[in-house]
Amino acid sequence: MKTLAHRNIPITIIGGGIHGVSIALRLLREVPRAAEHLAIVDRHPRPLLAWRRKTERQGMTFLRSPAVHHITPDALGIVAYAERHNRTSELAPPYSQPSTQLFWDFCNAALPEIAARRVYYPFEVAKLRWDKGAGRFPFRLISMDNEGFRSRCVILAIGADDCIYMPPEFAAWQRQWPDKILHASQFSVTCIDKFETCPDKKSKIVIVGGGLTAGTLAQSLSERGQAVVLIARKQLKEEQFDFPPVWLGPKALAEFASELDFQRRYETIQQVRGEGSITPGIVEALRNAPNIDIYPETCIRNIVAMGECKPAQGLQIETTRGLIANVSRIILATGYQFTLRHYGFLKELMAQHQIPLVCGLPQLDNDLQLQPIENLFGSGTIAQLQLGPAAGNIAGASLAYERLREKILPQILRAA
Ligand SMILES: Cc1cc2nc3c(=O)[nH]c(=O)nc-3n(C[C@H](O)[C@H](O)[C@H](O)COP(=O)(O)OP(=O)(O)OC[C@H]3O[C@@H](n4cnc5c(N)ncnc54)[C@H](O)[C@@H]3O)c2cc1C
Repeated sequence: MKTLAHRNIPITIIGGGIHGVSIALRLLREVPRAAEHLAIVDRHPRPLLAWRRKTERQGMTFLRSPAVHHITPDALGIVAYAERHNRTSELAPPYSQPSTQLFWDFCNAALPEIAARRVYYPFEVAKLRWDKGAGRFPFRLISMDNEGFRSRCVILAIGADDCIYMPPEFAAWQRQWPDKILHASQFSVTCIDKFETCPDKKSKIVIVGGGLTAGTLAQSLSERGQAVVLIARKQLKEEQFDFPPVWLGPKALAEFASELDFQRRYETIQQVRGEGSITPGIVEALRNAPNIDIYPETCIRNIVAMGECKPAQGLQIETTRGLIANVSRIILATGYQFTLRHYGFLKELMAQHQIPLVCGLPQLDNDLQLQPIENLFGSGTIAQLQLGPAAGNIAGASLAYERLREKILPQILRAA
């Protein structure tokens, strides 16, 4: 494979997840010769690997979003793929949500477009520099191995995985039992056999959270025969989607854009997305499962080790609803709290150019540009203050591309 070292690349996308790949596929289909001017860099060896692993680790069987939200520009692409392969039974009612396997297979069928064009490079960006006076390629990207290349335009499609949220009250307990108290992103349902710690096999896994990750994990573990207690601060909220679909339409987005106070925009997003919800199908499965106890409106007061459970001790949890004994693991399905400050490779750039943040998010301009840096763009959660509550979802990638294309297509034409 050609390396990037010392090259000048007109357009670089940092992040080969759903957003980076969606933008690249849209660009490549719109302007086939873009391949000569484009690089997608990611710390993983293959595109979409991180997302695929996340869904596998949770045991997610169906997507939450409808079939029209995926990685290629043809909205009915997955439906047509399902029809061609006699797999329409994997489009679930009521909104044709695709099975995870169907979604992956569809993505795998599209990824050869990226492979054939040789635009994907395993490359973890350790530092991003911008020197306005450095000519046509003012960005310098430096890898963990100190390999560097230059770029004219950079799109940050970095997701939110580097920003896991652990509620502060768990910090001391987590330090005491780091192998037993984990964030959901560090846990895989496929490993439960290894995790059983009590010889009587009556151990429970406690999941903390009221969102879809908590619900999916509880369902997957229960189906694997594991007793689960689901603890949520509020009543479980049932919603098919994690944001109302009006947020994909021009009216809601125009109203959002008319709010000039970015702090208020942030508050709107918080209100719209709420603290998490679970799809009706999963809530029903949780309620019917014989080995899941649901503790809504419950807080954890204390966690202690159970002395008699050897060799590895289980935990006992004191909650506002009583004690839970014999706990082998506590999984914090407490989500992510995006802040650009957690992305070490941007630290120097942010300090040097004083990029203003509102609650951790940059105030991108209408073209998704991180002012004051010209030709540095964002897609995904990073673009929430411009694209609203859908920005970080799969559908957010097409919203982002609509804004970006006006800016990035001329970069290709200039490079030609
Ligand atoms: C289990 C699960 C189920 C979901 N289901 C849905 C759903 O049904 N519908 C929906 O709309 N959304 C869903 N989501 C949300 C979904 O994750 C996002 O829509 C999507 O993954 C966001 O894509 P992204 O490209 O922004 O981030 P990611 O997919 O996380 O990709 C970001 C990429 O950036 C790379 N990266 C970051 N920093 C660097 C660096 N310094 N150098 C190199 N590479 C870097 C990472 O390696 C990663 O590959 C789900 C999420 C999860 C976890």
